[in-house]
Amino acid sequence: MKYVPVIGLEVHAQLQTKTKIFCGCSTEFGAEPNHHTCPVCLGHPGVLPVLNKRAVELAVRTGLALECRISEASVFARKNYFYPDLPKGYQISQYELPVCEDGQLTIDTESGPKKVRIKRAHLEEDAGKNVHETGGASSLVDFNRAGVPLLEIVSEPDLASSLEASEYLKALRDLLMSLEVCNGDLEKGNFRCDANISVMPEGSTVLGTRAEVKNINSFRFVRQALDYEIKRQIGLLEAGDKVVQETRLYDPAEGKTRSMRSKEEAHDYRYFPEPDLLPLRIERAFVDQVRATLPELPRARLERLVKQYGLAHDEAKLLVAEADRRIGDFFEEVAHKAKDPKKVFHWFKGELFRALNEGQAEIGALRLTAEAFAALLEMLDKGEISGNVAKDVFGELLAKGGNPREIVDAQGLRQVSDAGAVEKVVDEVLAAFPDEVAKYKGGKKQLLGFLTGQVMKAMKGKGNPALANELLKKKLGG
Ligand code: ADP
Ligand code: MG
Ligand code: ZN
Repeated sequence: MKYVPVIGLEVHAQLQTKTKIFCGCSTEFGAEPNHHTCPVCLGHPGVLPVLNKRAVELAVRTGLALECRISEASVFARKNYFYPDLPKGYQISQYELPVCEDGQLTIDTESGPKKVRIKRAHLEEDAGKNVHETGGASSLVDFNRAGVPLLEIVSEPDLASSLEASEYLKALRDLLMSLEVCNGDLEKGNFRCDANISVMPEGSTVLGTRAEVKNINSFRFVRQALDYEIKRQIGLLEAGDKVVQETRLYDPAEGKTRSMRSKEEAHDYRYFPEPDLLPLRIERAFVDQVRATLPELPRARLERLVKQYGLAHDEAKLLVAEADRRIGDFFEEVAHKAKDPKKVFHWFKGELFRALNEGQAEIGALRLTAEAFAALLEMLDKGEISGNVAKDVFGELLAKGGNPREIVDAQGLRQVSDAGAVEKVVDEVLAAFPDEVAKYKGGKKQLLGFLTGQVMKAMKGKGNPALANELLKKKLGG
């Protein structure tokens, strides 16, 4: 029997607000432990939470981008459990009536685009952080993170492989970053994922028993954790055993998941409506206002780049990945000024991305202007400079800025396309290499490359190679 995986993801995205969700404490990362705390986020008795409107706005913004229904009335609920990092003994979250429901996100799969259904997205507060002393007997708690706003985005179990799961996470992170609702920082835990995974016989419509894998903080780990878990579950079923519903932890060092605790059910949390907060009413006018501020979303931009500039899907994807819209913006700026958008893309991929990856340039602080970029490509296109010179000048523009024509002229880099000047050198080369000329005429045609190289060398790289090639062929008799 063949088994297929079924995966649903729960993502916790930290919303980019200045202050926490129910108090005025700062959300700044990296402060002294317990520096950003007050009686509200420390859960002192008698205090009252006050909802941060900006957090609601960011949740609505995300919900709209995910094509969700925005609830006119949504309710906060207490999720009760005990853990040292949870000062109140409950987390304020949403249960029955979340802010956003029933949306979708399109991802790329091996068999084309796929719509992954979004079940819900709800607002909640983050917990603090337990810090365990290495080798020590004690643990410390830092409440700076307690009360930081999170949006939990829950997918339907629509993902069918570990690759689809990581594609979904990338697409979601790109979306959130382009909306500027979350900074997407995986290392700081600002974009975290729990993965629910089960397997079932191919063709079945009955979902298998799932495990929930926690603590996955990189795209690579998601794939590794899920691949491990798929194998483990299939192994159990093939041996006639059962998968037990439980929460498991991924250990990247071992590349394995291990059981953490049996899965808690909703009733274990004794959810009930938060009595200190009124139901949240979101007016249509507010939703419309938020909708009007939505930027072009990554998927829409991707499709437009393909159509408008004739790029391949995978090429356009490189320009919208990482959700740094400045890369796509810069591409479009150059493409508008240059003749051939495909060539612009080619230079982005080959030269600009390399420089950005190697830290030689930063997209937010480029010295290279779109004008200079386009002018350089034009010079190359017209044969005024050679490809190698163009690369050197590109490097200089990235490092220092300036005008490519001025750089080329000041350094005497202009390509010699004057037929007379090139012909003179061609004649000299033919005279200097009589043996090679004889062999060429005897049929060793690949010597043309050698002879062209000699012309280029004599002209210090500035000769027009196409012209040199053409003249050589003519003189050698084809
Ligand atoms: P809970 O309330 O226990 O968290 P949900 O119904 O909200 O459960 O589902 C949580 C996540 O688990 C969702 O992303 C959902 O798609 C996924 N999920 C539910 N059932 C399964 C299953 N049998 N296999 C894989 N994923 C599942
Ligand atoms: Mg859940
Ligand atoms: Zn506080």
